[in-house]
Amino acid sequence: MKTLNRIAVFTSGGDSPGMNAAVRAVVRTALHNDLGVTGVRFGYQGMIDNDFVELEDHSVSGIIQRGGTILKSARSSRFREYEGREQAVKNLKKQNVDALVAIGGDGTFRGATILNEEFGIPVVGVPGTIDNDLYGTDETIGYDTAMNTAMEAIDKIRDTADAHERLFLVEVMGREAGFIALETGLATGAELILLPEAVSHPDDIRNSLHDIFKVQRRSSLVIVAEGDETGGAVKLAENLKEDFEQYDMRVSVLGHIQRGGSPTAHDRVLASQLGSAAVRALMDGQSSVMAGVVNHKTRLTPMNKTWSMKKSINQELLELVKVLSKSD
Ligand code: ATP
Repeated sequence: MKTLNRIAVFTSGGDSPGMNAAVRAVVRTALHNDLGVTGVRFGYQGMIDNDFVELEDHSVSGIIQRGGTILKSARSSRFREYEGREQAVKNLKKQNVDALVAIGGDGTFRGATILNEEFGIPVVGVPGTIDNDLYGTDETIGYDTAMNTAMEAIDKIRDTADAHERLFLVEVMGREAGFIALETGLATGAELILLPEAVSHPDDIRNSLHDIFKVQRRSSLVIVAEGDETGGAVKLAENLKEDFEQYDMRVSVLGHIQRGGSPTAHDRVLASQLGSAAVRALMDGQSSVMAGVVNHKTRLTPMNKTWSMKKSINQELLELVKVLSKSD
């Protein structure tokens, strides 16, 4: 086994609250074990562009509570080509980097796996994405904060919806997965939740809304995951306009507000655990695995399983929404 003297850490893809706490944990755990730490700015693009920074104890002081990522993040089309990855590895070697900690989502892990296969550089992943769509961890870093941010915004929308007895369609993030939609929907007492994982026939949606809104005559909130097959809240509103014309339907797309903000205690703790576990995994000679938490225990999962295996939404919660949203 090659000796490990220096690791590099980077954040990549969509940013998520808690990435900074994860960077802090990586840096402090590495330094505690006498490893040098190089920070890569702007993810894979920064590797190609030689954008490196030496990370010391003080570099990560006062960041555990900050949203975003001090290392910045990016999406890199050049890294998808072999030449880009070759350049990245040349640059990493010049920095004497022996191994990598990749903080990001499934795309970041796909890139990391390819890098390892092609150039043999060990890499361990830390799940940093608000979408919670990675197999191998009960929750991803940033998901809890994003849910709470969405919940607070939706509570406010409920106040105004109630005042005017309006129907609101609220779109939350989740292109491939409906985790945010499901749990924030349940937490805000939404009347209906539409997710990519559950096929919703347009007639069923109309009937449900008709029952809740026209018959019971009360304000209604429909939470729509952006990746739902209805095409998202704006498109759904267009399609429903005729049937609900007289009811002054409104749309609110929460958007990037869900990525920002100070991480919750839960995300800070998770990020601290997983950042540290990733460094320890590299020290144990592991590679191409992701550190996750399953049933409150830290667990390593082969990186390729994190995207090839489907993490299911909790169907019981979906059923519960149907029961609890009835007030008759
Ligand atoms: P999120 O889902 O939260 O947005 P992510 O990590 O999935 O995060 P992506 O944009 O999908 O975000 O991936 C981040 C970067 O990883 C891409 O910009 C690209 O540089 C690299 N990457 C993704 N897929 C591959 C691939 N198949 N081969 C090489 N590199 C890849």
